[in-house]
Amino acid sequence: MEFSKLGKSGLPVSRLSFGTWITFGNQIGYDIAKELMIIAYDAGVNFFDNAEVYAHGKSEEVMGKILKETGWTRDSYLVSSKVFFGAGGKLPTQKGLHRKHIREACDAALKRLQLDYLDLYFCHRPDKSTPIEETIWSMHQLILAGKILYWGTSEWSAQEIMEAHMLAARHNLIPPVVEQPQYNMLHRHKVEVEFSQIYKTVGLGLTIWSPLASGLLTGKYNNGISEDYRLKRAELSWLAERNLVEENLKKVRRLMDLAHDVGTDLTRLAIAWCLKNSDVSTVLLGASKPEQLKHNLTSLEVLTLLTDDVLQRIELILDNKPLHPQF
Ligand code: NDP
Repeated sequence: MEFSKLGKSGLPVSRLSFGTWITFGNQIGYDIAKELMIIAYDAGVNFFDNAEVYAHGKSEEVMGKILKETGWTRDSYLVSSKVFFGAGGKLPTQKGLHRKHIREACDAALKRLQLDYLDLYFCHRPDKSTPIEETIWSMHQLILAGKILYWGTSEWSAQEIMEAHMLAARHNLIPPVVEQPQYNMLHRHKVEVEFSQIYKTVGLGLTIWSPLASGLLTGKYNNGISEDYRLKRAELSWLAERNLVEENLKKVRRLMDLAHDVGTDLTRLAIAWCLKNSDVSTVLLGASKPEQLKHNLTSLEVLTLLTDDVLQRIELILDNKPLHPQF
């Protein structure tokens, strides 16, 4: 495993990490979840990503039980959670980024995970109805209280992240250190253009999600959809509609040919392509089966195949390089 620093912080994070969206407490049973965590940990993964909203808190419960049972020492791994969507409660006090929910959500996540502190705590989306000052103060206070070590954002705009930094500097508060955006061959603008300045200015780290576009970039959807594929799930029909379009499938077919041509498969090529971007601190892997995770964890090995020539061939197929604004 290789490690990088999370943005300008001193925190070492494995370049491949593991997340539990859709799977833990939902799609897969406890035994498979445990097997997946052990496969990841044994391969050197040190970061496990979670959120209050994943399976309405059950994902955190499953992870907490696994961490307890494995007995891994607390200094050998990082755990995150995320606050915003709530853990199933419908009341306005049970979601958002106001001080009350942040405080209660953090305590609830720690209880479900059976941990004393979270390494990373993400504001899962921006909350337009709460002043950013209130959110920053709340995260700062959680750090001072020893309940979290670092905080970050997920799917915030560059402007919102900069506002958080500006206010944190003004009030002498600890600013966010990391953002968690979607990033893959089919979804690039935020990471490659919108954030391009703030990697340098504020030292933003990235834990990117859906490197395989929910499995599309394995090529498995090119021959129809099986019952056990993620995008067959009723609650994700919106995502299937967005992703399973002929334009994407056509690109995937051509990318698969290219991958075979250079001696690998598209799954690993797609993950390595994300790793190749040096602004990406860690690529969050998802998996519903042990063999998927074992395979994906070997993606670092194919990084050397991504020569300038191969990257150029990929670019020609993708035909979606985001443009920087002209001045
Ligand atoms: P991917 O895009 O890699 O999708 C993972 C899914 O693709 C697996 O669950 C599996 O689904 C399929 N898959 C993976 N590997 C293979 C393989 N080798 N062969 C065939 N199918 C494969 O990542 P995720 O979308 O899961 O994102 C990773 C993590 O990022 C999440 O777990 C979560 O922690 C985080 N995340 C954060 C978000 C945020 O808003 N901050 C949003 C989404 C994710 P199946 O077998 O069911 O088809």
